Amino acid sequence: MLVTNHVLSGAVVGAAVRRPVPAFAIGVASHFVLDSLPHWGDWESERHFLRVAVADGLTGLAVMGVITRAVWRAPAADRNKLAASVVLGMVGAALPDMDKPAHIIFKRKLWPDVVNRFHGRIQDEAPNRFVSHELVAATGFALSAAALIKRRGARR
Ligand SMILES: [Zn+2]
Repeated sequence: MLVTNHVLSGAVVGAAVRRPVPAFAIGVASHFVLDSLPHWGDWESERHFLRVAVADGLTGLAVMGVITRAVWRAPAADRNKLAASVVLGMVGAALPDMDKPAHIIFKRKLWPDVVNRFHGRIQDEAPNRFVSHELVAATGFALSAAALIKRRGARR
C-alpha cells in the first residue's frame, strides 16, 4: 500500500486512540494489516517502483505536515496529547516502509531480514488498483481523520 495511505490511516488511529504510545503501536500493526489487503503494486520494473515510491514518499511527507499543522490548531483541551497521538500514529504506520529509502539513501537496512521477509510475503499487490483501491482508501482515511480530529477538537 502507498505510504501516503499508511500516513492517513495512522492519523485515523492517532485521532481515535488519543494516547501517543498505543497510537504508535497500533499504527505499526495497522501497516501490516493494510499491506495484507489487496492494493496497488506489482511494478513492471525497479525504475517504475522508484518513480511511484519517490512521488508517494514526498506526498506522504506533505500529508504528514498538513495533518500535524491541522491537529496543532485543533481547539482541544488536550491538544498536545491529541497532536502527539496523531503524529506518533502516522510515524508508526509509515515506519515499516522506511527500510527501502534507508537502504537506497544510507545503504543501511533498518529492520532484520525476518521482518523484511514477512513484510514482503504478506503483500497482496496488483497493477490497475490505483483508483479502485488506493484512491478510495485515501479518501476514506482522509475524511475519517478530518472528522475525528474535528470531533475530538470540539469535545470538552
Ligand atoms: Zn509496507
